Amino acid sequence: MRVRLFTSLLHSTVILCAITACERSPREATAPAARGILAAKAAEPQDPVLLQKVNAINARLATRGLKIAIEGIDFFTIGNGRPGIRIHQQPFRWVPNDPRRLADGTNITYIVDQSGGGTASGLTAAQTEAAVDAALATWASDAALKKVHIIKRADPGTDITIFDSFFGFGGFGDPFAADIVDAGFFPRAFFDAVGGPGGGRGILAFSITFIFTDDNGNPTDINGDNYLDTALNEVYYNDTFGDPSNDRVGNPWGINVVLPGVDVQTVALHENGHSLELGHFGPPPVAVMNPVYGGIRHVPFPSDDAGMNAVWGSWPNP
Ligand SMILES: [Zn+2]
Repeated sequence: MRVRLFTSLLHSTVILCAITACERSPREATAPAARGILAAKAAEPQDPVLLQKVNAINARLATRGLKIAIEGIDFFTIGNGRPGIRIHQQPFRWVPNDPRRLADGTNITYIVDQSGGGTASGLTAAQTEAAVDAALATWASDAALKKVHIIKRADPGTDITIFDSFFGFGGFGDPFAADIVDAGFFPRAFFDAVGGPGGGRGILAFSITFIFTDDNGNPTDINGDNYLDTALNEVYYNDTFGDPSNDRVGNPWGINVVLPGVDVQTVALHENGHSLELGHFGPPPVAVMNPVYGGIRHVPFPSDDAGMNAVWGSWPNP
């Protein structure tokens, strides 16, 4: 985030409406892939307003010539669930050794952005970083990822996020500082701007995945594995979710706190599950990847492990 502009929600909305008019041209639908648990993602309801915003952002990304586009957003909420979006009916995967994202061989890299690490509830950046690290260590030790190393990179101290820039909450940073950037805690107005009415209240965090595109804006599959090629993933946390006079009372971010508190590591485990390309499922069954917060969950459930196995069991081989 770095340069927080704190542009008003109204201003952001005006910009988005203005650019909606130049949505990219429709493209051919890609064939749906039957991929068990992951195929369910495509059938989830979509938020049409968010879809419109993302199409407008993708048009702006195309004019930058970076050959990346937003592919999916997933919201993790308190209270009611909230539909995210998928642009295509085909899942995405990290590509081993992909030079376009400066891949570290077959390692998956992440950075915890230090500029937004503290919370309004009083957690320090060191506390939230430790919780994120613990979450990624949990996934790294999952049996399905035994051949994959998840490597932490130091925060370079520069702007390393891009999605926030489209809503006036930061600059357009380096998209390829790491595969995954845990971007830190942002004001609720950002979540209202992204998720629409009620977003600031109900969204705890969201994960956003970008894919690579060709010169014509179409998704690529350079390794022929029948998956779209993931370019980068960012995770944003809502510093001041809930209603200040109602459900935020007694409901702040904490470390190992039980309900009605919200535990950072649990949310980080869920969000970085998306970063590692799991979708939502259940409940039932109860899982880390349920779309609504359900208390402390620091250990993957069998369905989470099954999802990880589906994504990573044979990776890096197609
Ligand atoms: Zn989620």
